[in-house]
Amino acid sequence: MNVLVIGSGGREHALCWALAKSPLVTRLFCAPGNGGIAQVATCIDLDPKDSERVLALVRSEKIDFVVVGPEAPLVIGLVDKLSEKGVKVFGPTAAAAQLEGSKGFTKDLCARHDIPTAAYGRFHDKASALAYLAGQPIPVVIKADGLAAGKGVVIATTRDEAVAAVEDCFAGRFGSAGSEIVIEAFMTGEEASFFAIADGRHVVALGSAQDHKRVFDHDEGPNTGGMGAVAPSPLMTPAMVDEVMARIIRPTVAAMAAEGRPFKGVLYAGLMLTAEGPQLIEYNVRFGDPECQVLLARMQTDLLPVLIAAAEGVLDKLNIEWDPRPAVTVVMATRGYPGDLLPGGEIRGLEAAGAVPGVTVFHAATRAAGDHFVPTGGRVLNVTALGETITAARETAYRAVARIDWPGGFNRTDIALKAIAAAGE
Ligand code: ATP
Repeated sequence: MNVLVIGSGGREHALCWALAKSPLVTRLFCAPGNGGIAQVATCIDLDPKDSERVLALVRSEKIDFVVVGPEAPLVIGLVDKLSEKGVKVFGPTAAAAQLEGSKGFTKDLCARHDIPTAAYGRFHDKASALAYLAGQPIPVVIKADGLAAGKGVVIATTRDEAVAAVEDCFAGRFGSAGSEIVIEAFMTGEEASFFAIADGRHVVALGSAQDHKRVFDHDEGPNTGGMGAVAPSPLMTPAMVDEVMARIIRPTVAAMAAEGRPFKGVLYAGLMLTAEGPQLIEYNVRFGDPECQVLLARMQTDLLPVLIAAAEGVLDKLNIEWDPRPAVTVVMATRGYPGDLLPGGEIRGLEAAGAVPGVTVFHAATRAAGDHFVPTGGRVLNVTALGETITAARETAYRAVARIDWPGGFNRTDIALKAIAAAGE
């Protein structure tokens, strides 16, 4: 089969790396891809939101199956456009991608179907939002409804801050993402990410992960797309996985089908593990990045038949095998990230890093330049390792990081320490 992966990050490198191992794949393409992806797939430079160009590529290269990585093309309906033309594709339709595209949509769905999540109100105008806010305890959470690249959420610890956040949203700080807002009760607990794959009716767990959102050690500095991850999360016991599947994931897939928006794709639940049990914080409708890297490092089953089964609605016929070992990934970023990037310089030593047993180096934003690579964005490399314990996986990952010669880059040094403590290692 000829397969096309849409996207250009570490997640898409992990998808391409896993697909390249499949004996079912004849030719593998990635659009637009990056310097690391080019080692396992043919990269084609195009804008993933330009569905006409994607369609033209599908035709010219006789692509049999398309896998969409990032949320932006999903939310604007790339899957719909490809399916209308008879192209087989993995990922949710625009109607189903509303689970990520509109926080208000998801909260209303949870309310209609009794799915545990924080109490909330949904507002289109400032006056009614401020009136609701006046009756809410502090802290309180203010969220722009639409996609705001992780920046549309304010945890307000004073009433003034909450009012300012509401005013900012309606003043257009998040563009059209903030023309509607959700005001939510503040939940306390540990956070975990949980992943499942759905085919519209059936759903299979892919496991949990713990990410590290802040840019610096000890969870200091601004939020980022993610500076590292561990899978599985030691906080998610098998009993808790069962509970999340029974109370959150399966009811969501059933609700989406019942409401005429069957969900096919990866369902990524952000969870708060509260004293009252796991509660949904939010859904994403694709693999997390860098969580995908640690999940796929552990997947032993060929990924391609799993994605095809999801697209064809026959996931119930499939069993996914996992490596029992945990995985850790350390993100290396260009100095300055997540703010203005400094000149990134040259990256060397990737082969030596990848030669450490148990390690795979995924590229998130690189370009090949002769005998070395150069960074092309903020988060650049995901150094991923398996180990008998989380401690062993972490040490192996950092041993590989030490082999990478990149003066223009930096990484957190405490990835997975929290998980190690929680696991009692
Ligand atoms: P991202 O894409 O970065 O995950 P997002 O903009 O889609 O973020 P959410 O995941 O809904 O937004 O919220 C971001 C973070 O804010 C959560 O990971 C969590 O730490 C915190 N948060 C959100 N809602 C609540 C809540 N009700 N109570 C406590 N914390 C919350």
